[in-house]
Parts: sequence; structure tokens; C-alpha cells
Amino acid sequence: MKTLQNKIVFISGASSGIGRACAELFAQAGAKVILCARSVEKVQEIADVLKAKYQTDALALKLDVQDKNAVNEIVDTLPSEWEKIDILVNNAGLARGLEKLHQGDVEDWEAMIDTNVKGLLYLTRKIVPQMLENKVNGHVINIGSIAGIHAYPGGAVYCATKSAVKFLSDGLRMDVVDTPIRVTNIQPGMVETNFSVIRFHGDKGKADNVYDGIKPLVAEDIADIVVYAASAPAHVQICEVTVTPTNQATGGILHKEKK
Ligand code: NDP
Repeated sequence: MKTLQNKIVFISGASSGIGRACAELFAQAGAKVILCARSVEKVQEIADVLKAKYQTDALALKLDVQDKNAVNEIVDTLPSEWEKIDILVNNAGLARGLEKLHQGDVEDWEAMIDTNVKGLLYLTRKIVPQMLENKVNGHVINIGSIAGIHAYPGGAVYCATKSAVKFLSDGLRMDVVDTPIRVTNIQPGMVETNFSVIRFHGDKGKADNVYDGIKPLVAEDIADIVVYAASAPAHVQICEVTVTPTNQATGGILHKEKK
């Protein structure tokens, strides 16, 4: 963990779930964390707690990653002591709806594509050149998904966005192969966060049903892997990690205990 002391970590989607857990574990490891989300009051509250708990620095910023200009502006106007970002965690993302593709809601598709793919691209395009310019041992950690490997019914667009995350990660890794930058794609299976509540447009009953009869991963399980990858020695690049609950094999194949 020593390697993370005073590193600057930029985390998108840090107001909840995996992003929030990453912020906590990075702060615990002595890193300085930039927490971004649309719910600025939530990230501010989390940043305040982390500062007090771990005596490290935390900066909360309002950001909608779908907004290209906002992404550029937020990075351009970082206070000088936060400018040299070492680690970018592209975590902001969502699934919307579980309808058949031909019956899907176009606005849901746009939210997924604009956040999971374009938001990740905007942040990467803005921050990676700065990592190179600042000569840091940069690290881009993308939160992909098992959904990017196997499609499942009703998940076509979400799966396509996460498949894009896999290939954007692979392509970037090739493009920066002659630099110190590392690229990691973490592909979780089922993690119990606010994810399903958002997917089902706030229907908590439907969301709870997803995790019924199976022990899902928790956000800290993923944050552990993120921090492990980030704290590996500079010559070690963890390219891809797929992690599922023990009773899940693919997005669609899982075993649930009957009650
Ligand atoms: P949560 O819903 O708990 O957290 C999602 C986070 O993303 C929130 O902080 C949210 O903040 C942020 N976010 C969403 N849209 C935007 C946006 N436009 N701009 C900035 N931030 C945004 O879900 P998870 O923690 O589970 O999800 C995190 C990532 O993990 C996602 O990329 C998801 O696809 C991926 N994943 C999740 C799995 C799961 O089973 N939970 C499995 C595999 C991958 P706010 O709304 O305040 O902006």
C-alpha cells in the first residue's frame, strides 16, 4: 500500500456503491482522492468523512460525465495541488431497463451509452495526455462488467456498452504500450449496490429480487481489487480481472437457493 501514499486518484461516480468504496480504500491507503458525481452533496459528505477518518485530502466535485465540456472544464480548473492525477478510476456508469431490445426505451439507451462509453472516453482523453505530460506512472482503471463478455436477455445495450469498455481498455493499453501508463479493466458480476434500483427506475422491490437467494459481491470486494491493481509495482500491469459471486458463472447463469 506504501506505493499509494500521496497519489492523486480521480474517481468518477464516487457518490455510491463501487466508486464510493474505492474512495474509502484509496483514502485508507494514504492516497488523495477526487470524488466526482452529479450528487455533489453526497460526494461532499463522503469527502468530509474520509478527510477526518484517514487524515488525507479529499476533493468533492460535481460532474456529469455525459457533458464533454464539463469534463474538460473540471480537469482544467483543478486546484494546482490536485493537477497531477496519477490514477483515473472510470467507474461512473449505469444500466437502465431490462426490456427486449426491440421494445427498449431510446432515452435509457442514450443514458447508458453517454455515461458508460462516452463519459469514460471524455475523461480518458482529457486525463491521459496530462499523465504523460506530468511524467507520472499513470494508471487508468475502468470498471467494465461481466456483461461485456456475455450478453443476457434484456441487457443488450448495457452489455454492448460494457463490451465497449473492454475494447477501449484493450485498445488504450496498446496505444500507451511505449509509456509508463497501465490500463486495467475490472469486470464484476453481481454486486449489491444502488445499481439495480437505478436499472428498475427506483423500484426497490424489483431490485431486491435480483439478489434474492444468492450472496452477491459487495462494493468493497471490487474496491479491494482496484486498490490491489493500483498498488502493484510499476512494472506490473494487471490487464483484466473478472470477478463474480461464487454462485454466478456468467451474467445470465447463476444459482439461487429456493426459499
Ligand atoms: P451505483 O448506482 O451504486 O453507483 C453509480 C455511480 O455512478 C454513482 O456514484 C452515480 O452518481 C454515478 N453516475 C451515474 N451516472 C453518472 C454521470 N452521468 N456522471 C457522473 N457520475 C454518474 O452503482 P455501482 O456502484 O454498482 O456502479 C458502478 C460501476 O460498476 C458502473 O459502471 C456499473 O456499470 C459497474 N458494474 C456494476 C455491477 C453491479 O452489479 N452493481 C456489476 C458490474 C459492473 P450520481 O448519480 O450522483 O451522478
